[in-house]
Amino acid sequence: MAKQREIKLASRPQGMPSQDNFLFETVEIPALQADEVLVKSLYISVDPYMRGRMNEGKSYVPPYALGEVITGGVVGQVVESKNDRFQTGDFVLGELGWREFNVSKGRLTKLNPQLAPLSAFLGVLGMPGLTAYFGLLDIGQPKEGETVVVSGAAGAVGMIVGQIAKLKGCRVVGIAGSDEKNQYLVSELGFDATINYKTSPSIRKELAELCPQGVDIYFDNVGGDITDAVFLQLNDFARVALCGQIALYNTEKVEVGPRILPILLVRRALLKGFIVSDYQPQYSVAMQELGKWLQAGQLKYRETIVEGFENIPEAFLGLFRGENVGKQLVKVADPF
Ligand code: NDP
Repeated sequence: MAKQREIKLASRPQGMPSQDNFLFETVEIPALQADEVLVKSLYISVDPYMRGRMNEGKSYVPPYALGEVITGGVVGQVVESKNDRFQTGDFVLGELGWREFNVSKGRLTKLNPQLAPLSAFLGVLGMPGLTAYFGLLDIGQPKEGETVVVSGAAGAVGMIVGQIAKLKGCRVVGIAGSDEKNQYLVSELGFDATINYKTSPSIRKELAELCPQGVDIYFDNVGGDITDAVFLQLNDFARVALCGQIALYNTEKVEVGPRILPILLVRRALLKGFIVSDYQPQYSVAMQELGKWLQAGQLKYRETIVEGFENIPEAFLGLFRGENVGKQLVKVADPF
């Protein structure tokens, strides 16, 4: 029997997760039963939301169970199939385990490798791209000439948000954690201005200077102090797409910030949290539009790809240290 590696949740993190929370095991690849497909992992996605699943307690997705294999987005290739819908060699996307090989009952999406590089289906043409698309367009409702601020701007979601906002004719200000990232956003992706939140003497003052007309749309990927500063600049009838709060994912105590509701009230602003899967019925429409922008060169993207199955936990931990530009992926194997 052939063997493979898999990664389990060993313990629940207190605060910042570490390597100790993960356990590598070598196990046999099970034989296929009727209707099953054996998928070789090529790219494994690591995502900030996985931090929430490492905790106990109710959320919009169930927590990872202790001692169970971590799951998430995986792009792979079918190596053996007992399911009529899949042939050996097919490229697929699925919610699969952090394993070198996964047995699936066939809840997989077939990918067309002619459309885009395979890794893109976990980034710009995958969950992060869809998150940017729906959060900005459905909640933000951008109009030409408006000012959009996006935090986590150089990440997988943020860099797509900024570019779509530019396509809609908005002024776009990005907030990210390094000069190199910010330089890329302005020179390569067309952002109008950026703030390095790690070195800024006052995010609030910089925002006021860079958004002289105020902020009409805030796409929030991070929360915390950055978000507190943006709220002070909101215009009347502003819209806030509450996408992520990564600055708070590793805090143990409940943070208390400024009371923002009076601001939202007097500005008659909309604040709406969303989870991308709420938009599942509309995914294909969004994919078509994202694909069209991509092919026309109107949408660019970057990925940070770490090689090697053994590096998955470290790549995940790197998200909380800002080590990625664009989508963070782990390349586990080449296609055959
Ligand atoms: P990113 O590619 O943006 O990676 C995470 C980035 O967050 C890091 O590179 C880092 O960039 C930044 N970051 C990390 N810690 C902090 C901190 N303490 N303060 C400020 N910034 C920090 O991840 P994604 O694009 O995949 O996700 C972005 C956000 O969107 C996350 O909060 C995620 O949970 C959320 N999300 C929500 C979805 C939904 O359906 N609502 C779906 C997908 C993602 P820097 O160098 O700038 O610090």
